[in-house]
Amino acid sequence: MSSATTHEFQAETKKLLDIVINSLYTERDVFVRELISNAADALEKYRHESLTRDQEDLFDSHVPLEISIDLDEERKELTIADTGIGMTGDELIADLGTIAHSGSNSFLAELAEAARKDVSLIGQFGVGFYSAFMAGAKVRVQSRSWDGSEGHEWSSDGTGSFDISECPGLHRGTKIIIALKEGCEDYAKKWKVESIIKQYSAFVPFPIKLEGETVNTVQALWTRNKAEIEDEEYLEFYKFIANAADEPTYQLHFSTDAPLAINSLLFVPKENFEIMGFGRVSPGVNLYCKRILIDQHSETILPEWLRFLKGVVDSEDLPLNISRQALQDNALVAKIRKVITKRFLKFLAEEAKKDEESYLKFWETFGIYLKEGVASDFEFRGELGKLLRFESSKSKESIPIGLDEYLLRLGPDQEEIYYINGPSRTAIEAGPYVEMFKKKDIEIIYTTEPIDDFVLSHLADYEGKKFVSADRADLSLDDKGENRDAPQDENDQALDEKRGEELISWMKKTLNDKVADVSISSRLVDSPAMIVNPDGFMTSSMERVMAVGRMEKGLTGEISKKNLEINTANALICKLADLVDSDESFAAEVALQIYDNAMIQAGLTVDPLEMVERNYRILQKAVD
Ligand code: ADP
Ligand code: MG
Repeated sequence: MSSATTHEFQAETKKLLDIVINSLYTERDVFVRELISNAADALEKYRHESLTRDQEDLFDSHVPLEISIDLDEERKELTIADTGIGMTGDELIADLGTIAHSGSNSFLAELAEAARKDVSLIGQFGVGFYSAFMAGAKVRVQSRSWDGSEGHEWSSDGTGSFDISECPGLHRGTKIIIALKEGCEDYAKKWKVESIIKQYSAFVPFPIKLEGETVNTVQALWTRNKAEIEDEEYLEFYKFIANAADEPTYQLHFSTDAPLAINSLLFVPKENFEIMGFGRVSPGVNLYCKRILIDQHSETILPEWLRFLKGVVDSEDLPLNISRQALQDNALVAKIRKVITKRFLKFLAEEAKKDEESYLKFWETFGIYLKEGVASDFEFRGELGKLLRFESSKSKESIPIGLDEYLLRLGPDQEEIYYINGPSRTAIEAGPYVEMFKKKDIEIIYTTEPIDDFVLSHLADYEGKKFVSADRADLSLDDKGENRDAPQDENDQALDEKRGEELISWMKKTLNDKVADVSISSRLVDSPAMIVNPDGFMTSSMERVMAVGRMEKGLTGEISKKNLEINTANALICKLADLVDSDESFAAEVALQIYDNAMIQAGLTVDPLEMVERNYRILQKAVD
């Protein structure tokens, strides 16, 4: 009575099979991993059903959850069976006849390219099942669904079509029988299959029985007691979960019972692929409920800026049958996210305390994510602030310090944390902004990345001390610092008040269309002038970054007018005052050049053509 029907593979599947059969033969081992992973998926799905339904609704509910692999060397046959969810006849046709993912041509082109380069990518493309044809001349799939409907057999040689026929008397689950191709006979040998399982499928949370013998030790490592886990086991688990070959930088295994039951095992990997130029990485932490995967590479269980972490979060408080969409709005998920994030940041702070040198290595590689966290996530500002590292005027070269260390050295009455942006430590120290800080012995943080000023302005304050950029117009260092009582340097050359005021009003007039204001500086020591920001919020660095952003969108790169502060004790400025009287037009050239120079020292752009021409005119005067 069993009538077989023949079905054509979907066109894309045909192309895919052609690639699988004809191009993928260098690393055939992966087909075993793919089929075991499907079996484990099917078992997970069955367990999921069994936990949410009445036992009598489940077919063969007494059958234990496991994967059995049997080998027949004589017949050159490999059989992988699972007692998972199974497939109905219709599901066999749909699931094993089409490509679940977008079966588009670009997908196939990418796959062909991946196949050429690295066959291990095949799993990521979701072509798992079809990899059976890498080693199989003929593949039969016998399956019976958990709903108890009659079983069916699917069979194909991978070229063009497959047959479906009824297959009575099956137990629940799926059995895949592979008649091995010539040259693939090893896959019917125990040592071969065992070594593949050990390599790829060591942590599958169901027994894998190879010829009756369990070859994987069932390991949902995160559910076990920390004290009983060997380093070696953690390492192996990391390699498995992160698909990595290296060792993790950090690992954090933690469990809580109240108010939430959470088991979590998180790893910081060795490399940061984003800064290596691989583009944005996708989240690496999977969400489980009682060892059942509910969200792989979860976008919701951790904040986006922790996407570099690998590992597992398991909470039995989560509802099992929750959709990915519902996860996003789930209040419990939000709570778990908060608990884990806080715990992880606390862990980092502890590690930094224990071994700052190692922490700095972490910081160098992954610090950028923490900065992203400050800028995007108000909730964890305090914890994140503790973890930031910057160089400062009192840090050793290339050994950044934390804000806590800065606070330790805070001067008397110092209520603010000062910082200044520049392309490098050397550039900052050669510039005008740090002069008074040096003189007064006040520590100043050097921010050398374009995003740093945004980060600090988001952070706003740390331990009650406000962040203040040294290029702010309203900054005053009077009455601050260790040397606050040091006598002002006597300088006979300095312009007296009247001459100073005259020069200021002349400069305001001369630089009218360039600056918002000109004033006499109380914080320049050596340099003739500097640019400061009347806007208390934006630093020059922030404006530069935003101007570049606008220009990339084809908009104007213009920035707001700045204030110019001049140093009336500086010889050039004094001479300029005289020059205004003797040769005003030349004085104007000098004033413009001073302004341009100050802009450049602020990291802001000037019109290079205009500046170079003016500069030559000034040089010409000098050599005449
Ligand atoms: P993926 O595993 O990425 O979904 P596969 O090509 O490996 O892609 O499998 C295709 C589909 O076939 C699966 O999604 C599943 O529905 C079904 N399937 C494959 N193997 C099994 C199995 N052992 N038990 C039940 N269903 C399976
Ligand atoms: Mg699969």
